[in-house]
Amino acid sequence: MALALFDDRDGFVWFDGKPGPTPIAITRTTEPKVRPVDDELRFGSAFTDHMFRMDYTEGRGWHDPRILPYQPFSLDPATSVLHYAQSVFDGLKAYRGQDGVIRFFRAATHAARLNRSCGYLCIPALDPELVLQSFHALVGVDQAWVPSKRGTSLYLRPAVIASEAFLGVHPAKSYTYFLILSPVGPYYAEGINPVKILATDTHVRAVQGGLGAAKTAANYAASIFAAEEAQKQGYTQVLWLDGVEHKYLDEVGTMNIMVKIGDEIVTPPLTGSILAGVTRDSILTLCRDWGMKASERRISIDEVMAAARNGTLSEMWGTGTAAVVSPVGELGYKGERVTINDGKTGPLTQKLYDAIIGIQYGETGDAHGWTTPLQALRAAGGESAARKG
Ligand SMILES: *Cc1c(COP(=O)(O)O)cnc(C)c1O
Repeated sequence: MALALFDDRDGFVWFDGKPGPTPIAITRTTEPKVRPVDDELRFGSAFTDHMFRMDYTEGRGWHDPRILPYQPFSLDPATSVLHYAQSVFDGLKAYRGQDGVIRFFRAATHAARLNRSCGYLCIPALDPELVLQSFHALVGVDQAWVPSKRGTSLYLRPAVIASEAFLGVHPAKSYTYFLILSPVGPYYAEGINPVKILATDTHVRAVQGGLGAAKTAANYAASIFAAEEAQKQGYTQVLWLDGVEHKYLDEVGTMNIMVKIGDEIVTPPLTGSILAGVTRDSILTLCRDWGMKASERRISIDEVMAAARNGTLSEMWGTGTAAVVSPVGELGYKGERVTINDGKTGPLTQKLYDAIIGIQYGETGDAHGWTTPLQALRAAGGESAARKG
């Protein structure tokens, strides 16, 4: 991967390997923020000193990749994303290991998914290499912000929004790609904790043929009402059923869902209404590595409730980048409530969590090459010596 940066601090082009076609211009902040201490980190409330931005203009393509001080956008009130939600995003993390190395977890898979999401929303494709470069360049500039306490990490939020100021409904003629970074704590302060979820047969999140397979703002807007209703009834998350028959499991909250019934691990297939989670894929891969039967098949809420009643449903958990795994301790459906594994985290759920965390922090073998270390940046040619001098 060729990475090229133009740094205003010393006027050098920084790169690793061959310089890329477009150097990324860096403008450093003159007002660095105070960094939160590792113990006080929560999810998504603190942001680093810089952001990455790149724009798309019809006829010109994507242009002006740059790193600039973290700052608000100025948007025309008619900007189409504000009215019609033509936008996509992704979410991944970088971890600092005990060895001091900063590693991204499955960065290329996330960059590829961002592009697939763009496709669903008629947003012009990004160069996946350039997206990866934006990850390395921005995390490189703000690397002091990567926390080091185990369980903490740096969350990367790349997003694309339609930036054209026009009230007609059509694919916009201009877009902005941006990347922001947030140091985050462990999703659950006391380790992983089982949640209570409610299967809803009245509200739906996405349907086949819709946007369910894209990571896009609209799906989140569609989930808020039912999530509030579930919380009023004492549940943490909604278990979404399919949008046509209200019968088959789709997802839980903003995570993929998995159950263990007898010896089989089951998760819904990628048929268009759910997101292809990177954690979902990692967990299926690990289960298969360990010789377990992991099936991607339709599974009905009736099958799950029956298995809960007859004692064969031993574990249930959600999967996602933020929490890795989120065990389900209680499931409600049509007025019935069932407890899973006595409301405690099951042994497989815990084993999967430990295995993924071990890979992310560089503590165990990474057989599938899921992590990539942050690329160190060097000044071009012999100029690094000049800078040091
Ligand atoms: C992001 C997301 C997930 C989890 O995906 P990961 O790649 O594992 O983080 C699952 N479902 C939805 C709807 C999501 O937006």
